[in-house]
Amino acid sequence: MSNKNETSSCVVCTSSEEEIPVISITYKYNRTWVCFSCLPQLLHGKKDINDYI
Ligand SMILES: [Zn+2]
Repeated sequence: MSNKNETSSCVVCTSSEEEIPVISITYKYNRTWVCFSCLPQLLHGKKDINDYI
């Protein structure tokens, strides 16, 4: 069922889904992943997603 060749990891801190929940997002027609600890920082403007993709 799961795709073992493609482990989702956070685009910001590179934590993998084995360590922390990651959320799939799409931006500028690209799909990427952001983890639970980085998402709030992006939401509050402390980090800019454009710096990481
Ligand atoms: Zn992260």
